[in-house]
Amino acid sequence: MGSITLEHVNKSFGGVEVIPDISLEIADGEFIVFVGPSGCGKSTLLRLIAGLEDVTSGRILIDGEDVSRAAPAQRKLSMVFQSYALYPHMSVRGNIAFPLKMEKAPREKIDQAVNNAAAILNLTDYLDRKPRQLSGGQRQRVAIGRAIVRQPKAFLFDEPLSNLDAALRVAMRLEISELHNKLKTTMVYVTHDQVEAMTMADKIVVLNAGRVEQFGSPLELYQRPANTFVAGFIGSPR
Ligand code: ADP
Ligand code: MG
Repeated sequence: MGSITLEHVNKSFGGVEVIPDISLEIADGEFIVFVGPSGCGKSTLLRLIAGLEDVTSGRILIDGEDVSRAAPAQRKLSMVFQSYALYPHMSVRGNIAFPLKMEKAPREKIDQAVNNAAAILNLTDYLDRKPRQLSGGQRQRVAIGRAIVRQPKAFLFDEPLSNLDAALRVAMRLEISELHNKLKTTMVYVTHDQVEAMTMADKIVVLNAGRVEQFGSPLELYQRPANTFVAGFIGSPR
């Protein structure tokens, strides 16, 4: 399970309303992309879902349970950071195992989870390497592996591909889409890149200045943009 509901979520920083009022229903198993220009509130919204920020008002529910005040670990979500967030001194195995070691999971469970994640991500032959001995794409897969072993209700991605070169970005887009097909776990993916949004999403949330301009499938947004902002944003080349 992994449905996520936002009810009148408001977030203010020092009296400045960054997100005035967002309500949203993300179904279990969907691939949702939050897209919008820099500074529109994408990361803030993701951090609110993750529990890295608290809502100022409103509620966040996961599988129908109010987690608005729950600590990040209690929400059972995995945030995927950019690949440079790996521990350079640890092996691939150590990096992927890290969240389970923190939870003091039994050794056999850790080994099984790491081997399973490595198989899914084609990292089996690289488990003893250090991050610096890997390509950019392999490093990104290790970062994803670290999220997989926790068996989260949903994966949260914040512009995971933004520091990769163009060719690798396209390859990783496909890999993340394939991962979603394999795991069928809810994914919430933040990007400012319209092409990424249009090619990866089941549903897209177009954000502008902390407001939802439109929520719909890529086809709906393309064929029936709600307003000129959506039309311009989705239609314009990168
Ligand atoms: P995006 O990820 O879409 O680029 P952010 O969510 O990072 O946008 O930021 C949205 C707005 O909220 C920006 O104006 C940013 O300056 C502001 N903001 C984000 N985090 C904080 C914070 N901790 N304190 C004050 N303002 C913040
Ligand atoms: Mg951001």
